[in-house]
Amino acid sequence: MADNSKVKLGAKDALIVVDVQNDFCPGGRLAVQKGDEVVPAVNALAQRFANVVLTQDWHPPGHQSFATSHPGRKPFDSIKLPYGEQVLWPDHCVQGSDGAALHKDLSVPQAQLLIRKGYNKDVDSYSAFLEADRRTRTGLEGYLEERGIKRVFVCGLATDFCVAWTALDARKLGFAAAVIEDACRAIDNQGSLAAAWEKITFGRRRVARAIVWLGLALGVACAAAELLSGLGYRFGWWSFREGIAVMRVAGWSALGAFAVSLIGVIAEGAAHARLRVGFVALVISALALGFPAYYYYQVQHLPHIHDISTDTQNPPAFVAVLPARQGAENKTDYSPQTAEQQKEGYPDLAPARLEVPPPAAFERALAAARAMRWDIVAADPAQGRIEATATTLLFGFKDDVVVRVTPDGAGSRVDVRSLSRVGRSDFGTNAKRVRAYLKALAPT
Ligand SMILES: [Zn+2]
Repeated sequence: MADNSKVKLGAKDALIVVDVQNDFCPGGRLAVQKGDEVVPAVNALAQRFANVVLTQDWHPPGHQSFATSHPGRKPFDSIKLPYGEQVLWPDHCVQGSDGAALHKDLSVPQAQLLIRKGYNKDVDSYSAFLEADRRTRTGLEGYLEERGIKRVFVCGLATDFCVAWTALDARKLGFAAAVIEDACRAIDNQGSLAAAWEKITFGRRRVARAIVWLGLALGVACAAAELLSGLGYRFGWWSFREGIAVMRVAGWSALGAFAVSLIGVIAEGAAHARLRVGFVALVISALALGFPAYYYYQVQHLPHIHDISTDTQNPPAFVAVLPARQGAENKTDYSPQTAEQQKEGYPDLAPARLEVPPPAAFERALAAARAMRWDIVAADPAQGRIEATATTLLFGFKDDVVVRVTPDGAGSRVDVRSLSRVGRSDFGTNAKRVRAYLKALAPT
């Protein structure tokens, strides 16, 4: 595989055009599907090369690779020969036959060498360099060496056999080798094409896989660090500011993890590799990136307050939770500046109005507080006040909530206030909680 439009070609490059013969084209004895489609591609490609080598499969009658030479066997069976596994083929490319002739439209007049292979009756030869016994040389290596060729580009028929073997041998013999995929067609017998690509791209695939695993490892490390940033605060390993610093570092690192995973996935795609690990790496690093990025966005776009009340004039007062808040960083007084910032940041927040008298409204408010899974600290129907403590998921921040039920005409008005104990900005948590509570309270 090579994007040939970007490759600069010179005197040290050669194009090897493999077996563009009648028998491998539609109508031939061992036709490769759409095999003739390579002809115009090869003709065009060859014009860009100063050095072109043609190969021809060239078997004597009764060749060992023919199924007809093995009674009881049929084409595409696999048998053991002294030199190893051999796929059996229909009789093809018999020396001097029409089928063995190059395709009539193949037009590469500048080709300097025609190498014939498979002429030993007992040994097949997919590769243009080495016969199937892996010892007998065709002479192509010596020719290319003497000509000073360093890089070969392989095209023709069929991708998964003669093209692949030729490219792999070229690489093994010390040439740089690429397969021009557009100018090849495959037989693809029982997964042979995938297997050939696996071998051809093995080096790059290994690199791509290593990048993907690195991306996955980084992504998992970032996600774990983010999780720990909160849990560490919960368990008292560090202050919440240190925890947030850990989260910030992990979030930025996740950007790197995502980039590495993306590069790995692209490299794997280019190397025809399976993308399963790559996608897992992408998803995990995207989550590790998205989680802190979301909160970062919240901090940037939301007011830096930590006290939210549906009544900004006369916010419900905390009473029962006060002992638990002793020493808390944030005080319980609700300032006019907070009211201003809240109105700007969360203009939708307003008290709930229920069309039932206060005692019934109180019951409903209490049920809604329980539904929120808050820790109820006090519920005083006479005062119309419910106090509770909510705990955030990751960091386990304690926020206190007070609900106040007052008469409102024939019905009731319910106000809610939610106040963090620590942190200047609450990442929008208190407003979110108040909204969720109002929704839980709403008649369904
Ligand atoms: Zn053959």
